[in-house]
Amino acid sequence: RSMGGLNTVNNDSSSATDSKDLRAKLVLLGDSGVGKSCIVLRFVRGQFDPTSKVTVGASFLSQTLALEDSTIVKFEIWDTAGQERYAALAPLYYRGAAAAIVVYDITSPESFSKAQYWVKELQKHGSPGIVMVLVGNKADLHENRSVSSQEYAEKNNMFFIETSAKTADNINQLFEEIAKRLPRPTAS
Ligand code: GDP
Repeated sequence: RSMGGLNTVNNDSSSATDSKDLRAKLVLLGDSGVGKSCIVLRFVRGQFDPTSKVTVGASFLSQTLALEDSTIVKFEIWDTAGQERYAALAPLYYRGAAAAIVVYDITSPESFSKAQYWVKELQKHGSPGIVMVLVGNKADLHENRSVSSQEYAEKNNMFFIETSAKTADNINQLFEEIAKRLPRPTAS
């Protein structure tokens, strides 16, 4: 199946010598249970396996993505590792993040309120110019959709996309859209 011209490659030793190549720290935020880990595992490992939840902990997962214009983007993807249960995340979590994905569950209004809270936190603590994306996950459960957030996303200057880690719908597109929005190094 076509992935819209997107290729992911699992090659951590790929040389990052091309001046077009980018590295980007990406953080995930959102209520517990919305599917953050499943989104990361779907993107990095290409599978949906809720039982093998990887606790990323103090570290991150790497994934490289090649864009159509041949730019290589190396993501360092940070998951909250359960810290979202506390009122605040460590400042180190946000530090240096080029992009943030705020996730809610489209069947859970409560998770959307929590998402709005994290958006405010990001507006306070995120780096200026951070790429902010709003993700409505569990799109496969659209018959039970109870949140519609396009307008909210626009107001807050966020790219919005609905995904399903379960069916893989829009998962690669999500990361591709982030990659496209990252600031490019200025030509010398
Ligand atoms: P986290 O706490 O935000 O990291 O959430 P998890 O990734 O652990 O996912 C929580 C639960 O939601 C798991 O039991 C998954 O089965 C379920 N889940 C995650 N993504 C999806 C999805 O896209 N569709 C459906 N139907 N369930 C999902």
